[in-house]
Amino acid sequence: MERLQKVLAQAGVASRRKCEEYITAGRVEVNDAVVTHLGVKVDPEQDEIKVDGRAIRLQKKMYLLFNKPRGVITSVKDPEGRKVVTDFLKGIKERVYPVGRLDYDTEGLLLLTNDGEFANLLTHPKYHLPRTYLATVKGVPHGTVLEQLQQGVELDDGPTAPAEVEYHDIDPEKNQTVIQITIYEGRNRQVRRMFEAVHFPVLKLKRIQFGPILLAGLPRGKYRHLDKHEVEALK
Ligand code: URA
Repeated sequence: MERLQKVLAQAGVASRRKCEEYITAGRVEVNDAVVTHLGVKVDPEQDEIKVDGRAIRLQKKMYLLFNKPRGVITSVKDPEGRKVVTDFLKGIKERVYPVGRLDYDTEGLLLLTNDGEFANLLTHPKYHLPRTYLATVKGVPHGTVLEQLQQGVELDDGPTAPAEVEYHDIDPEKNQTVIQITIYEGRNRQVRRMFEAVHFPVLKLKRIQFGPILLAGLPRGKYRHLDKHEVEALK
């Protein structure tokens, strides 16, 4: 048995807080009886739960790790018909959606789930999960540039928190450097904006790690299921 608001949140109805509001507002029914207090526990397998008269669909919970290619939108559909991440999940019948987002031109690790509560938790600004990227830039930035990125740079929406930054690869032939950067925030286009701030615009960006989860070994455009231990480790 689980708390009603938790079951609703997991079904993707809304955040747990919002679901509590739905309950107290009398919008939720369990086996055709309206429930307005918050202590109620339900059996998600047995009980019929409705919100605003409509039965909620309790799907099997799915947690996927996807290696997003460049040139794909982090969305489940695109009005302009461009490729979206769910185009790559043909075998998955559940309605999963991305946890956070990667830019159209960014590749690498993206999580997808149908567990709304899990997604809300991981993307909450208070939840400082490390995200590690490989950023390719033109030229070879001096060590002081890496230090600046590490300490924090000023962006339009405020200074960035301390990050971890190191050289990953220097390619003198192409005159390019790959820098590994780990940030503890998830602001919009944050890595690209950080590198712009130090005058080394990013040519290529790939996310290789999210919290304890590593991308390594998963081919581009492919997905795999997270195992139970990986899901627990993220919470
Ligand atoms: N930072 C960026 O700039 N872009 C991404 O896609 C992810 C992080």
